[in-house]
Amino acid sequence: MAIPQHTIDQILDRTDIVDLIGQRVKLKKTGRTYSGCCPFHQEKSPSFHVYRDKQYYHCFGCQANGNAIRFLMDIDNRNFIDVMKELSSQAGIELPKDNQDNKKLSYKRETVKPQVKPQAQTQEDKNTASKTQEQNTEATPSFEIDPFEAFSQYPDPEHFDPTQFDQTGFVQAPQDGNLYDLLENIAQFYERQLPHSKVAQNYFRHRGLSTETIQYWRLGYAPEDWQHLEKAFPQDIEGLKLLGLIRTSDSGRDFDLLRDRVIFPIRDSKGRVVGFGGRALNDEIKPKYINSPDSEVFHKNQLLYGLYEGRKDRAQNWL
Ligand SMILES: [Zn+2]
Repeated sequence: MAIPQHTIDQILDRTDIVDLIGQRVKLKKTGRTYSGCCPFHQEKSPSFHVYRDKQYYHCFGCQANGNAIRFLMDIDNRNFIDVMKELSSQAGIELPKDNQDNKKLSYKRETVKPQVKPQAQTQEDKNTASKTQEQNTEATPSFEIDPFEAFSQYPDPEHFDPTQFDQTGFVQAPQDGNLYDLLENIAQFYERQLPHSKVAQNYFRHRGLSTETIQYWRLGYAPEDWQHLEKAFPQDIEGLKLLGLIRTSDSGRDFDLLRDRVIFPIRDSKGRVVGFGGRALNDEIKPKYINSPDSEVFHKNQLLYGLYEGRKDRAQNWL
């Protein structure tokens, strides 16, 4: 089930994080924040703060932080959907029902972590690391945070903006991909490649196509690289496979269906891109034409095929 971000925001707006956490943790109002002993680590003096205005919690002892969703997920070890079901019924907001049609068009997007250069460990990291180690060896009953030391180390919770400090505690909906969106992005990608290939540009020029015509038909170019789509859309591998634009070799290696070809996007009656035709750059290369295969959005033997053929006839003198 994909829950749109605006529904999540609406549910969070109607959820009071102080009430929610107050059911599990004894909270005391301390100025701008509510504080209590952290449920995520052992402590005797409260370093766990809940910010009603930000709808966020932050522990200065173990750095646990997040919104209402994160809190329920972490404290009960529950998954996102499960927590959203509870919060939505409390907030009186209905979650979207699974729509069979939408389901067919969606695929799981992968999370691709940005590559972070290794950095020198900061003092804070080292502190956290050593604390974690101590926590892991639960046989260290002497471990506790000295409140005086704690206050000299931690920022004043009153004037601390927890959301500035760490965004990782915000739980975003795991967004599913949509095949139409992916096809549109791929069409744009192929269009952007055309200026990089002299040969492909010459091909169109020799066919007498003007820049306007090329733009009107959204013609493009698929590069030679065997994995250009994988590199351009690393989160969308599942979608690319559903569209048949990625093939898997016998040795299990993924490669692009269309390589070093001029690209003709195939559009449906609504103008949405549903597939691609690729033509080799010279007649020696066989096959001369490759079309992307049938998919959830592209059925060559149905209405769309006729539409595509009609267009292809008109475009015949180009090919
Ligand atoms: Zn804590």
